[in-house]
Amino acid sequence: MESILFLACVEADGSLAKAAREALSAAKNLAAGLGGAPLVVGLIGAEVQSAANALAACGAARFLGVAGAEFAPSRYTTDTAAATALAKAAGATIVVAPASSRTNRCLAGAAQRLGGRVDSHATSIAAAADGKISLTRWYYRQRMEGVLTRTARPWVVLLESGCAPAYAGVPGTTTVEAVAVELPALRTTVTGVRAPASDAQTIRPDAKLLFVAGAGWTKKQADGQVHATEAEQLILGFLASAKASLGSTKSLVDLSGEGQAVLKFMSHLNQVGQTGSTPRHPKGLATCCHGEEPHTVGWRFINERRAINLNAACSWAQGKADVLYVADAFDVMRKVNALLSSG
Ligand SMILES: Cc1cc2nc3c(=O)[nH]c(=O)nc-3n(C[C@H](O)[C@H](O)[C@H](O)COP(=O)(O)OP(=O)(O)OC[C@H]3O[C@@H](n4cnc5c(N)ncnc54)[C@H](O)[C@@H]3O)c2cc1C
Repeated sequence: MESILFLACVEADGSLAKAAREALSAAKNLAAGLGGAPLVVGLIGAEVQSAANALAACGAARFLGVAGAEFAPSRYTTDTAAATALAKAAGATIVVAPASSRTNRCLAGAAQRLGGRVDSHATSIAAAADGKISLTRWYYRQRMEGVLTRTARPWVVLLESGCAPAYAGVPGTTTVEAVAVELPALRTTVTGVRAPASDAQTIRPDAKLLFVAGAGWTKKQADGQVHATEAEQLILGFLASAKASLGSTKSLVDLSGEGQAVLKFMSHLNQVGQTGSTPRHPKGLATCCHGEEPHTVGWRFINERRAINLNAACSWAQGKADVLYVADAFDVMRKVNALLSSG
């Protein structure tokens, strides 16, 4: 009989991130698919009661918690020890956790301590009618999907965000069983978090729209001049009004290394494509981007694709976009921003 542990780290404000609630839905589905296998919730954080209360109606048989100031920040030693203790206390054979920088870092270590196995970047986990559990994940930059099964237990699975509906049950009150953790001497002190100001944060995974900027924004335009400053204003203005996420082509982010005109807020983290990211958004708008295959492979999970390019024969016109506007992106975005600010 399988026993499922949903494992998550609680946010600093005591809530659970959307990705964690998605992993809980996946864990619940798995438990149901196994004919009602026991589901246990395991939470790690400074304080876990509020998060447990938010999940009160999720159908878990037990709520376990590792709480305390040492478990507030992301730190390999404490997170690994907490996850290991929770999996042992739950008697878990399958551990489902959201993939975040924090869990991706520590759960392989926990799996090792448990004598189990770990799989990261999973996009689904489910049980077949015969009770065989399998997960899916992508390979070769989302060009191939693999289906994996394992006999080794415990099996720790890190589920990518955006792959399951987020759990949204009615909050209630629940009793959390405190799980004790024996910590080794801590050599790492977390002194704080350095993060960009929220208005400087251009990568927004939950945005409805991905706005991609290509190298054309920094190329000479019809008047023979480069207009990088105006390009920056147009792009930042649009991001601020539309609350869109910013993607880039490789050519554009590479320009900074080549001493050419650059968009200062752009970094390699924004790069979408074969050697970049594969974000998930309902809609995408590519501007001044040619739409070559190594770039557009990163658009795999963008449902509706539009592009603005001066060149009617650009690669987007070869079946890669639903709509191609053959137009000057400076003109179009000036007009779009004016419309957005007047509305
Ligand atoms: C192994 C490998 C991996 C790669 N991985 C990636 C990757 O992960 N991501 C990625 O992006 N690329 C990747 N590339 C590079 C990719 O092949 C292209 O070179 C790159 O995407 C081109 O970027 P771009 O479209 O911004 O620039 P360009 O090809 O220079 O295109 C600029 C476009 O802007 C248009 N333009 C200019 N001015 C305007 C205007 N005013 N209005 C409208 N349009 C205008 C032009 O018509 C042109 O089509 C990879 C390549 C290789 C070989």
